[in-house]
Amino acid sequence: MADFWVTEAMNGFGMTVQVKREICKRQSKFQKIELYETGKLGKLLLLDGIIQLTNFDEFAYHEMLANLPFYAHQNPPRRALVIGGGDGGVLRELGKHPELETIDLCEIDEEVIRVAREFLPEIACGFDDPRVAVHIADGSEFIREKNAFYDIIIVDSTDPGGPGTPLFGEEFYRNMKRALRPGGVIATQAESPYLLPEIVARLHRAARANFRSVGYASILVPTYPTGTIGACVAGDIDDVTRPTRPVSPELAAKLRYYNSEIHSAAFQNPNFVRELLR
Ligand code: SAM
Repeated sequence: MADFWVTEAMNGFGMTVQVKREICKRQSKFQKIELYETGKLGKLLLLDGIIQLTNFDEFAYHEMLANLPFYAHQNPPRRALVIGGGDGGVLRELGKHPELETIDLCEIDEEVIRVAREFLPEIACGFDDPRVAVHIADGSEFIREKNAFYDIIIVDSTDPGGPGTPLFGEEFYRNMKRALRPGGVIATQAESPYLLPEIVARLHRAARANFRSVGYASILVPTYPTGTIGACVAGDIDDVTRPTRPVSPELAAKLRYYNSEIHSAAFQNPNFVRELLR
């Protein structure tokens, strides 16, 4: 098949990737799942036409989403929850921490997990960790029944509009707070300030209404439209922007993006983003 181009178009922006062939296309109960082999970026996963990851740069997003809350926490976390994240990338990164005893994942769409396990084993290998328990449910419902249980909660969701919509509301942030043990920390996919400024502002407000320390961390991901995405990190702790423990040399050797310096640096924002967060 001749090369063709796949474009994510949103809000007047587009991100176009040259692809070699289609690997898989499925319509699940919740969304259209597409996976392609690209020329330069490895595999490309889209949900409802929105880029979720490429092999080229997925490490940046997954390492930061997993490690920002892990190292902001005062003590090594024991219990983690991932909401969304059906590709397994955040699980893979959490799995590098032997201190974690249980890692729950609540994904609404089991078809995403099936596709990832079949075609993206280098990412979905996160599911093979014996500490991982998978729950197929809406994360906004799942969290309601949890009380003072998790040390970290990571929300690796699609954008609002589809099944991810309830994960962007204030009530969800209230429920995450209740689900945390004392000192717990959350990190949520918090969009691009260039592409979806009103959502960045809304998430920050929801987090601030519930947590003592809140920060917006930028992550450079070239294949997301505008090349950047944020993580909203929050907790009832002194300062989520500071890592509380060093990364061990063994783990540092396995990380391509996260380090203690970038943990703090990622929370330094330009003036227009500060304005959004005010
Ligand atoms: N890194 C990605 C991005 O571009 O933002 C997100 C990747 S991950 C595949 C997103 C996952 O969130 C999808 O598999 C989707 O099914 C899941 N999801 C969306 N809404 C959800 C909800 N309400 N509860 C649980 N999982 C949800």
